[in-house]
Amino acid sequence: MKVAYFSMEIGLNENIPTYSGGLGILAGDHIKSAADLNIPLVAVTLLYKRGYFIQNINPFGKQEEIYPYFDPRAFMEPLPFKVTIRIENRNVHIGVWKYNQIGMTGRVPVYFLDTDLPINAPEDRLITQYLYGGDSHTRISQEAVLGIGGYLALKRLEPQITTYHMNEGHAVFLTLALLKDFNGNEEEVRSRCVFTTHTPVPAGHDKFGYDLAEKVLDDYLPPNIKRLAGEDVLNTTMLALNLSRAANGVSQLHGDISRQMFPGYEIGYITNGVHHLSWTGPDFKALFDKYVPNWRQDPKQLGDISVIPDSDLGDAKKKAKKRLISYINSVSAAGFTDEFLTICFARRAAAYKRATLIFSDLEYLFNLSFDRVQFVFAGKSHPQDELGKELIQEIIKIGRQYENRLRLVFVPNYNIWVAGLMTSGADIWLNTPRRPREASGTSGMKVCFNGGVNMSVLDGWWREACRNRINGWAIGDDEDQSDEAAAADFYQDLEDLVTTYYANPKQWLSIMRHSISDITPQFNTHRMVLEYFHRYYR
Ligand SMILES: *Cc1c(COP(=O)(O)O)cnc(C)c1O
Repeated sequence: MKVAYFSMEIGLNENIPTYSGGLGILAGDHIKSAADLNIPLVAVTLLYKRGYFIQNINPFGKQEEIYPYFDPRAFMEPLPFKVTIRIENRNVHIGVWKYNQIGMTGRVPVYFLDTDLPINAPEDRLITQYLYGGDSHTRISQEAVLGIGGYLALKRLEPQITTYHMNEGHAVFLTLALLKDFNGNEEEVRSRCVFTTHTPVPAGHDKFGYDLAEKVLDDYLPPNIKRLAGEDVLNTTMLALNLSRAANGVSQLHGDISRQMFPGYEIGYITNGVHHLSWTGPDFKALFDKYVPNWRQDPKQLGDISVIPDSDLGDAKKKAKKRLISYINSVSAAGFTDEFLTICFARRAAAYKRATLIFSDLEYLFNLSFDRVQFVFAGKSHPQDELGKELIQEIIKIGRQYENRLRLVFVPNYNIWVAGLMTSGADIWLNTPRRPREASGTSGMKVCFNGGVNMSVLDGWWREACRNRINGWAIGDDEDQSDEAAAADFYQDLEDLVTTYYANPKQWLSIMRHSISDITPQFNTHRMVLEYFHRYYR
């Protein structure tokens, strides 16, 4: 058996800008664990030569986007052939670059598809240029390159593929290429495909008008496409559900929500994880190497860390925090100290994540936190999301306006590297989404591998991991709350947390300890990939 993992974005490291956020990082971590565990898997994605942007914050606190040219030659090798697909009755040629992810016992090839070739029409060269920037015409063309182009490339490179794993509907057109090869036999296609949905938000599921779909994909659309993909619009998620032998969401709650969104389909769940070797910072790596034999091969071993003395645990956290604080002081005039409780909030600036919830009652926040708590914010907004950009601007404005009453910095250009620094340095990782909009979330898991503690709404993965006040803090209860109620619960928890940190260091260490030993054995991609392997890949 061999699995082909398809994703519109894959984030392997900060040097390869072919990711924007959670979906890409998760794909990268999936690949890394498969390589470590020697699971037969290959991956397919697009090569964005002007990939996701670098975020600059201008003097007005507004996000500006910079798209530097990415030269893949330092990281991957071009393969000596092309595949050709038909888009709008034109031949579009696709080059393939090969990247090798080397793991502890195996390796996973990652194939990057590239239409930026001189033989292509100028507009077709641009198809793979930008990640998530284009209109729906560009988008459907990108999905054709990923699904159909990727399928054709694998036919040449990896003849033993037994399962195509589609992540989101983005890669679903591979089912149309399969249908063609099997003369329209849907059962044959279904037996080869599995599908993972990653978002509980309807707008996150791509839909295309049939006029556009016919114009672009005329050569591939089967006569019964409306039965498979929806009567009114081509819904990529529905097409994927109809042509997969299994489907899943990415947390227990997200599985429930997905079944409500798509009634009549069997949708299970596999909760996300993170790649422990990528997200444990140097200080905790050294600590675990000293006390937990075999944790690198088998992160379940972190379930028992009773041999680690409190003093070593505290020292490792202090070192990791110092790294973060030095970076912050080098890029800002904040003058942060490693003596203060440090609370981080870093994620995409999307409205549902409610980054500004903590500013609901500023006076209360000032009184409780000044000279005790430092806040570090980071996150990019989608370039076309003006609301997201306003959120960033508001956070920066509050930081400036109240610099004498609130210790707050916004660190620009959140990426894999900044995420590594922040998730390893944080005392508290704050997460306040509007339930149930966060399908899983993964950044909070990274924190646990570094002795940090989560304080989060019971959404996504945290609902499965949280033991309130034992391994972290639950904001609110297991119900959907208004913003006001969530803010009130947040302040109550914040007060409890600040008091515990300063007045009861022993208890704080116990919570840190449980954050590691309760959570990391479960919420890692080794566990996740093995679950995919046993339940969906075989
Ligand atoms: C882990 C990570 C994410 C995903 O975090 P969420 O918890 O889903 O918000 C996004 N961006 C970067 C750079 C990350 O490292």
